[in-house]
Amino acid sequence: MESRNNNERRERLVVLGGGESGTGAAILGKAKGMDVFLSDRGTLSAQYKEELEREGISYEEGVHTPELILNATLVVKSPGIPPTAPIVKALAERGTPILSEIEFAGRYTDAKMVCITGSNGKTTTTLLTYHILKSAGLNVGLAGNVGRSMARQVAHEQHDVYVIELSSFQLENMYDFKADIAVIMNITPDHLDRYDHKMENYTAAKFRILQNQTSEDYFIYWNDDPVIKAQLQALQSEAKRMPFSEYYEEDSASYVEDGIIRFITPREVWDIPRDRLSLPGLHNLYNSMAAGLSASILDIKKDKIRKALMDFEAVEHRLEYVATVKGVRYINDSKATNVNSTWYALESMTGATVLILGGTDKGNDYSEIEDLVKEKVKAIVCMGKDNSKILTYFEGKTPIIADTHSIEEALQKCAELSEEGDTVLLSPCCASFDLFKSYEDRGRQFKTLVKNMSEAESAK
Ligand code: ADP
Repeated sequence: MESRNNNERRERLVVLGGGESGTGAAILGKAKGMDVFLSDRGTLSAQYKEELEREGISYEEGVHTPELILNATLVVKSPGIPPTAPIVKALAERGTPILSEIEFAGRYTDAKMVCITGSNGKTTTTLLTYHILKSAGLNVGLAGNVGRSMARQVAHEQHDVYVIELSSFQLENMYDFKADIAVIMNITPDHLDRYDHKMENYTAAKFRILQNQTSEDYFIYWNDDPVIKAQLQALQSEAKRMPFSEYYEEDSASYVEDGIIRFITPREVWDIPRDRLSLPGLHNLYNSMAAGLSASILDIKKDKIRKALMDFEAVEHRLEYVATVKGVRYINDSKATNVNSTWYALESMTGATVLILGGTDKGNDYSEIEDLVKEKVKAIVCMGKDNSKILTYFEGKTPIIADTHSIEEALQKCAELSEEGDTVLLSPCCASFDLFKSYEDRGRQFKTLVKNMSEAESAK
């Protein structure tokens, strides 16, 4: 695409959606001499508008004007816009190429790509991998769903490696892009509404992360995931397979033996005691294995990887320790918006737990966490507009279940129901939109109130 010569018609790039990725794509298109237009049916933030104006890029908001869009020769679409949106359908009918921002940016850089996808653990693994590479002194960019868009970085910076978090939505519009290292953490039902409620469509989107890989490339994955396992049998990929699991299995590239995590990569064999990992819990064992394997494949020395796995700080809203008030530990896991995430959070709990559940239910099946609730939870505090489904499900399955409708009320209940040595865990299994703007908003409100409680206690 970039080899078009000057005699050819100038590329008209239309960017649909003006968030971080769209604005970045528009900036890159402009830097590559394209005729760029950005269209967002919602409102653009003041910061992005200012940036587009500074770069001399024309845009519209509140509307998609067909005459300004359908003349595109190339489209970059925000992952948030579904393929069924009328304007996207109209473009597809015309045969206009529709790319994701990562596909587009990938065309203008030779950097190595470490790409991470999965239903849970993407952000943690991406940030952890980035932390290892950065601490080891690599010139590395962080992109995808976290941080600044890759296109923006490709336009103005030069990196040797990118660590990229890829959602299935982003993967939908990727074609020629190749990951040097592709990571699939796990595949459990989420966002099925976007995939005609068909698990196979969701799985296929995730597996696009492997397309174009050659025998020089690597595929890292969780070996105990039944969905990944089933898919592997039909998989035609030459990439070197690097499975990881808790216990040794045939061909394991990483596993635990007597409390020691072992890593076996073509370049190096090394290990680290499990209890030295900075991130707690079984899920973070997996995340640390995936990140350690990627770093090892990229030739980072084992001592540097070990050090970085030990000094990484928790990611906000993911099993984030907030404070201890009256001997009770408060943990913010607001990012747990599905049952599977909460399963891992509960799995990592050591003492008796007061669990805050609730919010917007995306068709949850709570049976997945029932055993862990029976084993570890002394009380459930429901926090949502309508808690009836959770109340009905857990009635009789836990000693105490409380019904609350705000974060203040929920925390007050938690304080009443907990005693020294307990943990209060916000890991709600649900989206946040009934009471909050986002899971970040929910987590921050939780942290602010807990910190207030902690200050009030120390002022006594
Ligand atoms: P994502 O970016 O895929 O949404 P995050 O790294 O933000 O994932 O973690 C979200 C939540 O998912 C965490 O709070 C944790 O409870 C759970 N989680 C994290 N890593 C894993 C994993 N490897 N497997 C299952 N659940 C996980």
